[in-house]
Amino acid sequence: MVQDPSVRALNLPAVAPQGLSLSGQTEVGELARLLEELEPAAAASTAASTVAPIAWQAHLQWRQAAGASAQLWLHLQARAQLPLGCQRCLAPVLEAIEIDRWFRFVESEEVALAEDDDCEEDLLVLQPQFDLLNLLEDELLLDLPLVPMHERCPGSAPALDQPEGAAKPNPFAVLAGLKNKAP
Ligand SMILES: [Zn+2]
Repeated sequence: MVQDPSVRALNLPAVAPQGLSLSGQTEVGELARLLEELEPAAAASTAASTVAPIAWQAHLQWRQAAGASAQLWLHLQARAQLPLGCQRCLAPVLEAIEIDRWFRFVESEEVALAEDDDCEEDLLVLQPQFDLLNLLEDELLLDLPLVPMHERCPGSAPALDQPEGAAKPNPFAVLAGLKNKAP
C-alpha cells in the first residue's frame, strides 16, 4: 500500500484548531531502519508482503495551557507483529509490539531539553515538516525486545523427553544471533 506522502511532511503549526486524526497501514519495507532489525529471511520476504503491515493511528490536538499559547499534543498508537530472529534457534519468532504514547510539541530543542525531566509525556520540536512515520519507526525500534525468543522453539522435543542439559541454548547459536544483531 502506498503511503500518503503527507504523513512524512506534516505541517504541524498549520494543524486546524479542531485537531487532526490520521490512520494508516505502513508496510515494514517502508521503514528501512526497522527492516534491518528483522530476521533476515523474514525481512527479505517483506517484499512479498508476508509480514502484515503496521496499523497505526495518530491524533493531533491543540490544548490551551494556563497563561501560555496553545500546545500541540500527539497521541500515537500502533500495533505490529514483527518477525525477529529467535536467540535460541535463530528461526523467525513473531513478536507483537503495541505502542500507545503521548507527545507534546515545544518550540525548540532547548525547551525540550529544559522541560523533559519534569513531564511524563515525550517532547518533540514543533516543525513545519514533521515525519510521522519516522517517529513511528523510532518508537517501534525502542519497543523491540532485546532478546527475542520462542516460548518453545519449533522442532524442540517436549522437555520431559530430552536428556539432561539438552534444553540449554547452544552457545554458538546464541553467539551467531548476537552477530546478526551487530550493526
Ligand atoms: Zn526459537
